[in-house]
Amino acid sequence: MPKPVPDTEESMNVCRRFCGPCPSFKPNKLNEFEPHALFCSRGKTAKPMSEVEDHGCNCFGCDLFSQYELEGGYFCFYGIEGKK
Ligand code: SF4
Ligand code: SF4
Repeated sequence: MPKPVPDTEESMNVCRRFCGPCPSFKPNKLNEFEPHALFCSRGKTAKPMSEVEDHGCNCFGCDLFSQYELEGGYFCFYGIEGKK
């Protein structure tokens, strides 16, 4: 079962290394919308789903993904609950 990811600067530093260079992050300008990053803790982007394009997800290689036994990835699109 996935464990809650703490919303801390330490988590952000890890997220920056994976969401930062993610092909879905910059082209969709996700940094300009709440919650900016760390979607696996904070939930999905406030940007309307009709305006975001899927170019892949780097979460699967992220240290927090394995550490907190996360599942599914694409937390910026689908939030913590995952794809429904
Ligand atoms: S699992 Fe994804 S959203 Fe969470 S810190 Fe890692 S790269 Fe960022
Ligand atoms: S949550 Fe996944 S798809 Fe979204 S920006 Fe981060 S690495 Fe990319």
